[in-house]
Amino acid sequence: MNILVINCGSSSLKFQVIDTETSNVLAKGLCERIGIDGAITYENVRDNGGKNKKEVTIEDHKKAISLVLDALTDAETGVIKSLDEIGAVGHRIVHGGEKFTSSVIINDEVIEAIREVSDLAPLHNPANLTGVMACKALMPNTPMVGVFDTAFHQTMPAKAYMYAIPKSYYDEYKIRRYGFHGTSHSFVSKQIAAYLGKSPEDLKTIVCHLGNGASVSAVKFGKCVDTSMGLTPLEGLVMGTRSGDLDPAVIEYIAGKENLDASGVLNILNKKSGVQGLSGVSSDFRDLWKGKDEGNEDAALALDVWAYRVAKYIGAYTAAMNGVDVICFTAGVGENDPRSRALVMDYLGYLGITLDEEANNVRGEIAEISTKDSKVKVYVYPTNEELAIANETYALVK
Ligand code: ADP
Repeated sequence: MNILVINCGSSSLKFQVIDTETSNVLAKGLCERIGIDGAITYENVRDNGGKNKKEVTIEDHKKAISLVLDALTDAETGVIKSLDEIGAVGHRIVHGGEKFTSSVIINDEVIEAIREVSDLAPLHNPANLTGVMACKALMPNTPMVGVFDTAFHQTMPAKAYMYAIPKSYYDEYKIRRYGFHGTSHSFVSKQIAAYLGKSPEDLKTIVCHLGNGASVSAVKFGKCVDTSMGLTPLEGLVMGTRSGDLDPAVIEYIAGKENLDASGVLNILNKKSGVQGLSGVSSDFRDLWKGKDEGNEDAALALDVWAYRVAKYIGAYTAAMNGVDVICFTAGVGENDPRSRALVMDYLGYLGITLDEEANNVRGEIAEISTKDSKVKVYVYPTNEELAIANETYALVK
């Protein structure tokens, strides 16, 4: 079945059409600067059509979706003859709160429930919903599925998701750890089990999703038992521009020194911190390594702080699961950066892990990067969130 996958932000919309029978991407692209001026990039992947970018006024998300549908059905560049060839639409929804523990078929009740949890993700959920509403208007008879970043983590036990603050804050406001990147953690933990010829129920897996945003999860016998992101994606690992864990008292201290309010400091912790803030060089690991190679000590420090944090989480999650069988590196840095993986692996000797340096010299492909005699297996396993969304969508509508 052809599934249209939509990832809708406040001013951008990414899309892919995936044939779930073959897992092939037929077409993909991006609408940018929605509501500002507008541009659509479209690529017919099936026929190697190349990328085509067009500046065109995109006043709102409905216009964006209609441009996408026009491109997909275009006589020359399209990949389908009519919209009937799209079996369903899968929407990425960032926050499902406690209401959504798995993907769901979107109906009016679900739309209302997504709206209700919007104050947990005020930037993302309303934007995701505009994509849903636009598709609903233009493809009223095509089933739609919501796939939530938080859903996979809903199996965490209370001891992992509760913060030690007055319990009333959980009871009244639902303040707790939710976790994000769930589609990726779910996909990679299931795929690696299949790749190893095992059932997820047989494995204790740690997934390190290391991109610009980054999180780790502990997946015990197929269920997520802990993850590093929290109420928001700010907690946990050192990221491209996010600080990850720190003493919350730092917020008041910076506010006082820099004459900022809480949201001003949070803006710094989200957008100007992480390896970017520490290095002053870049949030991109290619630039950090270049900086380090040229003798930039702050770039070297940023890489060290980043790797140390990942290693600490691997240790914590090994304890949480009373062991680990397999560790997976995925996402932009995890898939493409052998040197950063090696920095993390340096800490894992106590688990009986040795890095296979030659095997580690891979980018973007499945590879076992621990030596054959390592007690715990370490893999690079590329994530594919769009394919995961397409598969989840197909499973619900077939
Ligand atoms: P996100 O989805 O969170 O935006 P990605 O998972 O796409 O992030 O990861 C993007 C990051 O991956 C880049 O910022 C860069 O740091 C890193 N990256 C991508 N390619 C490479 C590479 N070849 N070598 C090192 N780092 C890379």
